[in-house]
Amino acid sequence: MYAEVIINSNAKALNRIFDYVVPRDMENTIKVGARVFVPFGRGKKLEDGFVINLKEESEIAKNEDITLKEIAKIEIEESLTENNITLAKLMARKYFCNISDCIKLMLPPGTGGKELANRAKEKVGNFVFLKKDIDEINFDIENGKIKSDKHIRVLRFLTENDGMYISDLEILTDVNRSVFKTIEKNGYIEIIEKQIERNPFVHKNIEKDEPKVLNEEQKRCFDSISFCVENNEFSKHLIYGITGSGKTEIYLQLIQKVLEQGKEAIVLVPEISLTPQMVDRFLARFGDTVAVLHSKLSIGERYDEWQKIAKGEAKIVIGARSAIFAPLKNIGIIIIDEEHDISYKSDSTPRYNAKDLAKYIAEKNNCPLVFGSATPDIVTMKQAKDQEIQIYTLTKRATNTKLPDVEIVDLRNELAAGNRSMLSFKLQNEIEKNLKNKKQTILFLNRRGYSTFVMCRECGYVAKCKNCNISLTYHSSGNRLKCHYCGFEMSVVKECPECNSKKVKYFGTGTQKLEEEIQKLYPQASTIRMDIDTVSKKNSHEEILNTFKNENIDILIGTQMVVKGHHFPNVTLVGVITADGSLNLEDYRAVERTFQTLVQVSGRAGREENGKVIIQTYNPDHYAIIDSQKQDYDLFYNQEVNLRKMLNYPPFCDIILIKFSGKNLTEIQKISELVYKKINSVKNDNIQIYKPVPSPIDKIKNKYRWRIIMKCKVTSKVLDIINFAIEDERIKKCKDTSIVVDINPSTMN
Ligand code: ADP
Ligand code: ZN
Ligand code: ZN
Repeated sequence: MYAEVIINSNAKALNRIFDYVVPRDMENTIKVGARVFVPFGRGKKLEDGFVINLKEESEIAKNEDITLKEIAKIEIEESLTENNITLAKLMARKYFCNISDCIKLMLPPGTGGKELANRAKEKVGNFVFLKKDIDEINFDIENGKIKSDKHIRVLRFLTENDGMYISDLEILTDVNRSVFKTIEKNGYIEIIEKQIERNPFVHKNIEKDEPKVLNEEQKRCFDSISFCVENNEFSKHLIYGITGSGKTEIYLQLIQKVLEQGKEAIVLVPEISLTPQMVDRFLARFGDTVAVLHSKLSIGERYDEWQKIAKGEAKIVIGARSAIFAPLKNIGIIIIDEEHDISYKSDSTPRYNAKDLAKYIAEKNNCPLVFGSATPDIVTMKQAKDQEIQIYTLTKRATNTKLPDVEIVDLRNELAAGNRSMLSFKLQNEIEKNLKNKKQTILFLNRRGYSTFVMCRECGYVAKCKNCNISLTYHSSGNRLKCHYCGFEMSVVKECPECNSKKVKYFGTGTQKLEEEIQKLYPQASTIRMDIDTVSKKNSHEEILNTFKNENIDILIGTQMVVKGHHFPNVTLVGVITADGSLNLEDYRAVERTFQTLVQVSGRAGREENGKVIIQTYNPDHYAIIDSQKQDYDLFYNQEVNLRKMLNYPPFCDIILIKFSGKNLTEIQKISELVYKKINSVKNDNIQIYKPVPSPIDKIKNKYRWRIIMKCKVTSKVLDIINFAIEDERIKKCKDTSIVVDINPSTMN
């Protein structure tokens, strides 16, 4: 008997399938998914891997010059299931990546998991987190500023894991404790003492919560999905209801049903809304049987949670995107909350969409798949209209609060009236009123450092990064210009390098600048700022929001991050500084995102008292703005879907992005041309393909970026065509260029 084995390694050369001989005494225990240790090359060290197929004959064994080696060891308890392997193979084909990349998502967190679990449970640990931007660190590594392999290993690990305890890091990176001190001295990391919380909930004393009596709308929805749970029926459902309309209560009762059937549940939520408050609601209803998986837990914590699931102690898994791979055995429901959120699509390898995988897994488990949203993805809603998904509309807020009153301010008039501030007169008035009444205000900016670029007002020169060809962003701390992509920085220019004019000005509305302006206008007001610069491991998203709430801070200034999660009873005013930020991005979903964000941010105001929302915009006539003022999703959907149809965008087709990047421009052009020609030579009329062109950001970190866009429904045939085009000897020879295929990518950059 022969086994096809995938080696569990990052090394490129090992990223293939290898044939091994199965020794006689293993023939009865071995199975697809088994974890095995195999000899490799000349070394004595065994590599670990997984069996992905078993067969009686091996083509390679028939070659007389080759003697296949035997599998050395098998660890059957650490096996994956056959279903895992099938899914990994399917993902590798669909998302154009290696099987091993997909298998990694299904393994317990941290390769040294076992040692971590057995480690003595410390109370206080030294916690390490990054002090510099990920981009900046990558830049220093690429440019040889960080030379030591150990340093690079530690930093790379931290960039992927957001900070962790030294004791975990030592095991996982095989680096001695003293090395961390040196890296700290070099300014890349900071080490602090921190309470170790191996059980994220152990300190909690949550009051038990009983199911509510469902209202009519909720009951209709519950009964219908509950029927599918009872009858083991795969089916798709969309619960469409505004925030507070009782979606979560329905999830909770459905899960109750699933548990009664002796089955298990997966609940996916966007990473950022995975707040303790959210988890508490599940704990209050179900207690210990809940496991939580997300990246803010230490690896040790994640490993514990994973084991709890694998051993069957936890029956409900709540987590971000990758929790779809939780090792449950008998899934009775999969729920995806805020299903429109972009975080369900991975934008690094494997570039999977958790919603697609959820469908596949629900189908395998004969169970319902439930989406919930106040602003469903246009694609999901189209499926509901086409009756591929059963839709339930919740029209009432479960706790009878009114929706806030939304007003639009035309920023063009402000300028004409001589107001050069970021705050319109109207918004200034409302802030003052709120301060007087001791109510809280949230001010929302569409992006971090949104266009805080430097421009010459005489000749239009814009300071750009020489590596990436995008505008540099002004940071007032240190008075520097920084590139958000590669970390390049320089001091601010006082004189235009093109025309020597002194009229160089900072444009834009960054959070820092807004905070300064607020402090000048209202020196008595307390403010707190939340953006990528202020949110670090020490000062988490969670802690900033808690401070805002508990210390009754007057004004919270923030980016996207303020939109989700918390419930602030004392917030009665929300100001959107410029709604247009994302309207003009080169992305077919830009308008949809703007609408969703505006509706969501408006929901922050007055959840208990009647609130006010002020949306400032330069495009007051844009339908995304008008519809969000009316909080009218249906109107928005109709306008948007018509436009998508006209322009042939999803849901009427899929978008496939084939991305080429590398330092050699001629090579990129040659390869992209080749791929384009090959696809063209075999494609049919249903496939639209555009000529290779530079990407919108055509250079990052000195690497050129080109792309080909295809529009068509992704079918098996289409996958074959793309594979045929990129699997080419001529391309393989060009080692400098890498090709990535991304289906319905989350950004078009
Ligand atoms: P959503 O998930 O749509 O935002 P929730 O399920 O969180 O809505 O409901 C909002 C609030 O209303 C919660 O405090 C919840 O406990 C409460 N609630 C939900 N359904 C009911 C009900 N049928 N009766 C009473 N309260 C309810
Ligand atoms: Zn100039
Ligand atoms: Zn750059």
